[in-house]
Amino acid sequence: MYLRLLEKNQDSSEKEKQNFLSKSLEYFHISEKMMGVKRKKVTLVFGEAGIFALGTALSLIKGDQEQSNKYEEELLNFESTVLSKEFDSNEILYGRAGYISALVFAYKYTMNSKLLETAEKIARLLIKEGKKLQSPSPLMYEWHQSRYLGAAHGVAGILWTLFMIPNIMNDKEIRKDIIGTLDYLITLSFPSGNFPTSVGRERDELVQFCHGAPAVFFTFLKAYEIFKDKKYLEVAIKCGRVTYERGLLKKGLGLCHGISGNGYVFLYLYSITKEEKYYSWAQQFCEFSWSKIGLSTIEHPDDPYSLFNGLGGAVCFYVDMLSKIPKFPCFDV
Ligand SMILES: [Zn+2]
Repeated sequence: MYLRLLEKNQDSSEKEKQNFLSKSLEYFHISEKMMGVKRKKVTLVFGEAGIFALGTALSLIKGDQEQSNKYEEELLNFESTVLSKEFDSNEILYGRAGYISALVFAYKYTMNSKLLETAEKIARLLIKEGKKLQSPSPLMYEWHQSRYLGAAHGVAGILWTLFMIPNIMNDKEIRKDIIGTLDYLITLSFPSGNFPTSVGRERDELVQFCHGAPAVFFTFLKAYEIFKDKKYLEVAIKCGRVTYERGLLKKGLGLCHGISGNGYVFLYLYSITKEEKYYSWAQQFCEFSWSKIGLSTIEHPDDPYSLFNGLGGAVCFYVDMLSKIPKFPCFDV
């Protein structure tokens, strides 16, 4: 969150920027100290790899190239774990796709091509993994015996990470598989515009970043930008509408299943369509989240201050509302 504040406030005074940087470093070092010896969590959101990716970026911003290189090396050391057959998770929150996010996050700072090369290796394995299951979809994945669809645990999130790797997106066969998977996903949408949490689950229920319409929205909007096919924009707009109608959640302010995660849907729609209506929807979610009624109806989340489940994510959303340029933390890296 402090890193976002630093990056979004480049016009602030030197003193303020230093304050954001030192706060970022302070919390980073606490996370570093809390890291276990067994480094098995490989994702940007939940894992040691994420801490090393952040360390790579922060050290570089601080001007410590040597330390940044050390963290980058540690980050790259996860490659063998993630490529191993024993590693059984592919999704963003705990799996291979989440390692890709960590690598690409660090790459945006260091521009070290080794990071992208490693990400590409993982992505090619993800394509292979996606073809193992019997499914009408060219790519499908299972996590805890469910074929989840959404951003956090499912195929939409995995596609999102594939979009980030140029060599993958330049591969004609892979593009075909991705398009086929997107088109298959469309067939699963409910008449309401919402999406099931997993294949075969018929309850039109959850509307949040981890499950339901917001969980596939980001992938469809990005697919529209990449493939220029209007049908993907139409799906994204439908997802936006159902998120507006049913997405004012009472589960906290967080990104994963809270108001700010859903608010991002409208800010992204606004950024692509430039329709004021969507910015106004985002504003309404924003205002509700800190209103007396909003705060009183919001149940306490598990991690009230965290980036993904708590106030940290909400602050990033508010900051992005001011600039009108959305960048969903730890997801849109
Ligand atoms: Zn969630």
